[in-house]
Amino acid sequence: MKKPMLTKEKAQEIIKTYPTPFHIYDEKGIRENARDLYKAFSWNKGFKEFFAVKATPNPYILKILQEEGCGVDCSSLTELMMSECCDFGKGDIMFSSNVTPREDFLKAKELGAYINLDDFTHIEYLDKLCGIPETIFCRYNPGGDFAIESQIMDTPGDAKYGFTKEQLIEGFRILKEKGAKRFGIHAFLASNTVSNEYYPALARILFELAVELKEKTGADIKFINLSGGVGISYVPDKPQNDIFAIGEGVHKAFDEILVPNGMGDVAIFTELGRYMLAPYGQLITTCTHQKHIYKEYIGCDACACNLMRPAMYGAYHHITVLGKENSPCDHKYDVTGGLCENNDKFAIDRMLPEIEIGDILCIHDTGAHGFSMGYNYNGKLRSAELLLKEDGDVQLIRRAETPADYFATFDFTHILDKYSK
Ligand SMILES: *Cc1c(COP(=O)(O)O)cnc(C)c1O
Repeated sequence: MKKPMLTKEKAQEIIKTYPTPFHIYDEKGIRENARDLYKAFSWNKGFKEFFAVKATPNPYILKILQEEGCGVDCSSLTELMMSECCDFGKGDIMFSSNVTPREDFLKAKELGAYINLDDFTHIEYLDKLCGIPETIFCRYNPGGDFAIESQIMDTPGDAKYGFTKEQLIEGFRILKEKGAKRFGIHAFLASNTVSNEYYPALARILFELAVELKEKTGADIKFINLSGGVGISYVPDKPQNDIFAIGEGVHKAFDEILVPNGMGDVAIFTELGRYMLAPYGQLITTCTHQKHIYKEYIGCDACACNLMRPAMYGAYHHITVLGKENSPCDHKYDVTGGLCENNDKFAIDRMLPEIEIGDILCIHDTGAHGFSMGYNYNGKLRSAELLLKEDGDVQLIRRAETPADYFATFDFTHILDKYSK
């Protein structure tokens, strides 16, 4: 069952101040989930989650996660700047970028972030730019297919990320010569996995690699970063990941591979984004139009600019009509936004209760890669973000864009003065 955060009455109350569409986040859910993650990995002394900022780049969200002990995983200058302003300091920031501009590396070094190199050539690039830090991470790409029990999960061989194993061995030797003292390894081999086996399988690959790298290069490997990829089920009534089973699976691999090799002090890091936030955000939108042609259409005040995943990936997002939670789903609709793009549909042929104009729809699981993937196509403006606090109050954590925001990049000319101020 997917439950809306808001009742119809509460949503109507909020809309008086903050009109739809908006994304709303559940503080209580975010905190409890983060605490469970830390419990699941409490067997590992140095464990730390670095929240993937790209999933939900909002300082209020970052602050909540910070209070729960999380750091941040950044991949760009602006994500680093936001993290800096939220007081994430040395040891709290992972910088896992690729095709990295110079100024991004410089900022990461300035903030004392853990720098995670994506490529062999970045060793020399970083060295020339600002020197190699004493603690350095490298990203691994094993190539080929990544399978769990002969089921292919993803194809690292086609992914642009990471070093080959030969490059890692050579790279660690060079990094040591250049003054690196502590090493971390990282890999991201499959996205949005709904399987308790993903992290344990990835951990085995990285743990065995760590043992080999230590033997071949003498590098002091202190950190293993399992990155993101633990997903959620967007479809209702499908089992979700069990973070405690996942933590135990990694624990078992740790005890079997690292401990006997004298590496029992390695700290496990994660860079989860979706798992930390997706279920704790919902997009609230009002039905503004209905259309009856060859199919039945529900037109909303939100569009793919507010949530791109259905248009981009054909992703399923569950929809609840507020106040009609218990009504029979006996109407078949396409639920659409107003972009001049036929893929602007939140749902196709979805069975829902009868929807009337003015009904409020809750689109579930938009807390990660929802608002953040938003865009301004067709001149659509980005929505507000709200926080449902633990005490039930609602706080604005990002205002909605106005036309002036949309026109702001014409501030060098007077043509749009009428609207850009
Ligand atoms: C996107 C990303 C993550 C987060 O991935 P999720 O699937 O949201 O958990 C973590 N690390 C890196 C390097 C990423 O690119």
